[in-house]
Amino acid sequence: MNKIKVYQAENEPVLGYKKGSKERQNVEKTYNQMFNSKVDVPIYIGGKEILTESRKDILPPHDHKNIVGTFSQASEKHVNDAINNLIENKNDWSNTPWERRCEIFLKAADLLSKKYRAIITAGTMIGQSKNIFQAEIDAACEFIDFLRFNVSYLTEIYNEQPIDGPGKSNHLEYRALEGFVYAVTPFNFTAIGGNLCASAALMGNVVLWKPSDNQIYTAKITMDIFKEAGLPDGVINLVTGDPEMISDIALRHPEFSGLHFTGSTSVFRDLWKKIGNNISLYRDYPRIVGETGGKDFIFCHPSAEIDASATAIIRGAFEFQGQKCSAASRIYIPESISNELINKVVEETKTIKMGSPIDFNNFMTAVIHESAFNRIASYIDYAKNSKECKILHGGNYDDSIGYFVEPTIILTTNHQFKTMQEEIFGPVVTLYVYDDASWKEMLDIVDKTSDYALTGAFISKNEDSIEYALEKLKYSAGNFYVNDKPSGAVVGQQPFGGCRASGTDDKAGSKLNLLRWVSPRLVSRTHSPPTNYPYEYMD
Ligand code: NAD
Repeated sequence: MNKIKVYQAENEPVLGYKKGSKERQNVEKTYNQMFNSKVDVPIYIGGKEILTESRKDILPPHDHKNIVGTFSQASEKHVNDAINNLIENKNDWSNTPWERRCEIFLKAADLLSKKYRAIITAGTMIGQSKNIFQAEIDAACEFIDFLRFNVSYLTEIYNEQPIDGPGKSNHLEYRALEGFVYAVTPFNFTAIGGNLCASAALMGNVVLWKPSDNQIYTAKITMDIFKEAGLPDGVINLVTGDPEMISDIALRHPEFSGLHFTGSTSVFRDLWKKIGNNISLYRDYPRIVGETGGKDFIFCHPSAEIDASATAIIRGAFEFQGQKCSAASRIYIPESISNELINKVVEETKTIKMGSPIDFNNFMTAVIHESAFNRIASYIDYAKNSKECKILHGGNYDDSIGYFVEPTIILTTNHQFKTMQEEIFGPVVTLYVYDDASWKEMLDIVDKTSDYALTGAFISKNEDSIEYALEKLKYSAGNFYVNDKPSGAVVGQQPFGGCRASGTDDKAGSKLNLLRWVSPRLVSRTHSPPTNYPYEYMD
């Protein structure tokens, strides 16, 4: 077997959107056009785009009275039709030469990089209330990187071949899974929505995509891009509607071969249980890949630098309103620097502006929807009523125009306080001050405080302490950052995923993830087969 040329991907440069720049003007114009018009999002089955009678409104979280569109609600029949259509198309797609599959997704990356960049970025600002920078690094750069780097990983995987034996040549054929893959995706990253379907489809699978109700606006743009890039109809079918109904049908189907999930831990556990209960219905043992919640920490060692720590805390906790699975939400601060560091965090947080994403002065905008707003508010109220903490900044929330929650800093005297343990998924960070001398024992507490193990950061100028923490916190985080915030993973540089209650750690944005979407077949050819059965030792 000749080796195939490995595609060398490079990270998409992040645009600056400075005042007066062309990219900024483009996004502003596109945002205003989209914000003041309406789009009806269909469900996609094969070549058909079906607008159902039953619809729901699409509402920007920062201005929830301005309807920017509707999305369709699939019936049970639609879901069954979508799956049957995928199965009909399965062989054609998995037999499509890999070079062609790669070309399609590389073209999609180019469309995202140029023609659709302003559209998907503005769509992410409107539909998910990201500021321009957060929208750019997600919907443009990370999405493009996923598509290009996955092509690179595919070529690496296909090159991984066994050695030949005497008189034998051996080959691993990286077949797609035999049935269909079910992709269930969260609201908070346009790139994750696209990648969870595209990664499996690139490897030759057909995919049923159920995006979050709160990412539908950009899910439609993603489908438009895939189509324009040449993805055949019925390779990715998109259905929206009741998530339990859709999942129950998909997970009862004998041809269900894999779940590609990102979202909350409770939903993932529920889906896993259903798969377990249905196991005898399936032809395959399904692949289950899930990246779920987090309770991500920053640990400041006594040698930690104040400015670097404060920046990591503020960016880590409040970017995208704390709605990243990797958001820093429990912070451990040594007593010796606590006054200075906490003061700096509070004073800088006071300068944060919050409002609509189209006002580029705003660092923060609204949280995603009413139930998220209520959940976050309930944690803030709990803190307000507790004797074990005080609120150093923030604590207010207002949903009259959009779902706005002030960046909130809680200082607790109990390292097991509720907001140190549970995922809040909002702009709320809890600080705990420890005695410098006990920093090593504190690491045990960091490790045991939460069920999650997604990301964590250790800030220190002392190399020995870093080595110690790496060992002590070995299983506390799937992504461990030294001297930085625990969020902001870049495809190709920091493959992403956590363990324990945070997921299966299959590392999105790496070869490891793509390996879950293939079922390798070994083909061994013997050139001169033996012609009698006895072995030499029998002579
Ligand atoms: P969510 O769990 O509410 O929704 C995720 C998906 O599951 C959506 O498509 C939703 O419609 C679907 N869903 C909801 N209830 C369902 C049910 N009963 N049956 C079947 N499907 C159901 O999560 P979200 O609010 O969209 O996203 C936030 C969560 O995702 C957070 O917990 C966050 O930590 C996690 N997340 C994790 C990562 C990671 O890489 N680890 C990345 C992004 C988000």
